[in-house]
Amino acid sequence: MKSVPQTAFDVQKIRADFPILNQSINGKPLVYLDNAASTQKPQAMIDAIVHYYTHDNSNVHRGAHTLSDRATARFESARKTVADFINAKSTGQIIWTRGATESINLVAASWGGANLKAGDRILVPALEHHSNIVPWQMIAEKTGASVVAVPVDETGTIDMAALKALLDDRVKLLAVNHVSNALGTINPIEQMIKLAHAVGAKVLVDGAQAIAHWPLDVQAMDCDFYVFSGHKLFGPTGIGVLYGKRELLEQMPPYQGGGEMIETVSFDGTTFNQLPYKFEAGTPDIAAAIGLAAAIDYLNLQDRAAMAAHEDALLAYATAKALAVPGLKIIGTAASKAAVLGFTLDGMHPSDIGMLLDQQGVAVRTGHHCAQPIMQQYGIPGTVRASFSFYNTFEDIDRLFVALEKVRQLLS
Ligand SMILES: *Cc1c(COP(=O)(O)O)cnc(C)c1O
Repeated sequence: MKSVPQTAFDVQKIRADFPILNQSINGKPLVYLDNAASTQKPQAMIDAIVHYYTHDNSNVHRGAHTLSDRATARFESARKTVADFINAKSTGQIIWTRGATESINLVAASWGGANLKAGDRILVPALEHHSNIVPWQMIAEKTGASVVAVPVDETGTIDMAALKALLDDRVKLLAVNHVSNALGTINPIEQMIKLAHAVGAKVLVDGAQAIAHWPLDVQAMDCDFYVFSGHKLFGPTGIGVLYGKRELLEQMPPYQGGGEMIETVSFDGTTFNQLPYKFEAGTPDIAAAIGLAAAIDYLNLQDRAAMAAHEDALLAYATAKALAVPGLKIIGTAASKAAVLGFTLDGMHPSDIGMLLDQQGVAVRTGHHCAQPIMQQYGIPGTVRASFSFYNTFEDIDRLFVALEKVRQLLS
């Protein structure tokens, strides 16, 4: 029997930390290849949430009692964990949101509402997630600005010459994902940020897909805003992060009004709280913030370079196998890719393939992956997407392709 590749990374040890992976689906051991939609959770993160509700639960920043002090301390310590994780200068620049989507909506409504006017342009590459398209269309509609698509070539690579040609003094913002969830393309963020800044535009980076794969440094990157979701970083749903440069966040008006975000309230006028609380109206998802910090603590204990190398090896192994399948077309063939293999199979609908894979215990995503514009460019309704994390194995990929062969026999 042909042996599968090995990396130095001890994947079995890691898998033991993720209890959900150890189960059968439709009578077969689960192969979870839908990590771009949501990642699984280490026991340490689950334990942190249970511990919080068992011992510390209370509202934050309000109480004159011990539990509230404890909840506040853990909640604010979680913010510090996130700030350190992305190398933000201060915790005031870490705003809790419900996820990447809400973070982008916050910037669009608050920064966009205050800074955009008729004639201004927002550049959005054609491979963006709907979350990084629709909020810009909504604020453009209100302000008279326009959203202009940056072309992407047939490999799924942003056309940098076209971007340069589009960048002029009408452009106020470039909103771009770090890694495409539909294609896996890793975009040349640092170069794009430099080019945008040269014409005075701000840059929002949607890091929802990048954050789980490598360490990053928002100061070195010099982005104006960086957003991501907790649930794609081995943390809970319902929590996300907006990082912003301090001077921009200081100038931006509040997004929502309510408790927590004010300094004083009277019917003659209200003054707003300092950063980050100005943007955090209402009781936050305290447990989720603590859970996200536990997920980050877990990652910080690992060899992240080895994890990333393992993911790269999984993608290379899966890509080689895919190229050998008759009628299979890989969608997204950029030179620089992360952990995503999207494909179509001649004459077969992605959702039928997904269903038949699930019957064999293999979880993938099918459809347009919230990126209809790029699917339209490829002239397809959607793809089958297998997306990898460090807890996936080479055997998982073998299982995917064995299952896919059965699908081909059934459907052809
Ligand atoms: C998942 C994803 C989003 C949206 O994240 P939510 O958690 O649904 O808010 C935005 N952009 C990209 C690239 C994504 O992968």
